[in-house]
Amino acid sequence: MATTRVAVKPMKVAQVPKPGADFEIVEREIPDPVAGQVRIKVQACGVCHSDTLTKEGAWPGIQYPRVPGHEVAGVIDEVGAGVTTWKKGQRVGVGWHGGHDGTCRECRRGDFRNCKNQKISGISYDGGYQQYMIAPIEALAAIPDTLSDVEAAPLLCAGITTYNALRHSGALPGDLVAVQGIGGLGHLGIQFAHKFGYNVVAIGRGGETAALAKKLGANTYIDSAATNAAEALQKLGGARVILATAPSSKAMSGLIDGLGPNGELMVVGADFEPIQVSPVQLIVGSRTIQGWAAGTPSDSEDTLRFSELTGVRAMIETFPLEKAAEAYARMLSGKAEFRVVLTM
Ligand SMILES: [Zn+2]
Ligand SMILES: [Zn+2]
Repeated sequence: MATTRVAVKPMKVAQVPKPGADFEIVEREIPDPVAGQVRIKVQACGVCHSDTLTKEGAWPGIQYPRVPGHEVAGVIDEVGAGVTTWKKGQRVGVGWHGGHDGTCRECRRGDFRNCKNQKISGISYDGGYQQYMIAPIEALAAIPDTLSDVEAAPLLCAGITTYNALRHSGALPGDLVAVQGIGGLGHLGIQFAHKFGYNVVAIGRGGETAALAKKLGANTYIDSAATNAAEALQKLGGARVILATAPSSKAMSGLIDGLGPNGELMVVGADFEPIQVSPVQLIVGSRTIQGWAAGTPSDSEDTLRFSELTGVRAMIETFPLEKAAEAYARMLSGKAEFRVVLTM
């Protein structure tokens, strides 16, 4: 079918022109969704440490220019042909899980999180650092009315990651659960762990964050710069779970001896360096190390509803889209308290 475009409707986009290059603010034509897709008028998008994969080209197969962003909150403003389960005007989010094929062996087992052909927003296709984005319906999570876009955005990666990792960790109410790192992930991990009814230990470096950690729900604070955190955990009886959020393999390695019997190091902080552990450390006490990546949009909805119910919220610094480079630098500096969110 021939179409005549009378007027081009531009939108602002923060794109990475090539791996390692600086962000560019450019204008593009607002794209149209096809079958199986919706167009989202983006209202807010979190800036996540994993956006470095797009910025630096550390993920294989990214096509440039690419728009990062996998903590997207907005409103559906157009639906593609045949889309009936999502409506114009509906508030939705997109997280790390940017779509699955529904046909691979993992999908046929219902394990969409581990789809062989999983798509990732901001990596496989343009993400939320822009005024409008196209998303496949498999990637959509509904946002409850009581959460604002800025509140919802960081819950769609940092939130779901810590919430989902903890709820699948096997820890039960009353168990000793440590959260290593009080940053973008950790400050949410402490809140979820507290609301799950765990005996929460926050592990940070230095004394400055102790008061904040307790305010967020930690029962105990361990300063790993001043004490041996593994020994301190053993004095408390040994951790059932340590949620390792700071991307430091060295710090994680040092905590393994703080696990109690059947204890589990749950790894969500992404470092490329190896974790060091001896077989004996794992054999004695039947300890395990497990990694965890985010979750499906259905898990995102659980995260949002739980946060709505219990008051868990990220602490947020906002930047306008035009200042994406500044926002990204702020996230990288590690000084943001604690999640950086772009507003459109
Ligand atoms: Zn992320
Ligand atoms: Zn699949």
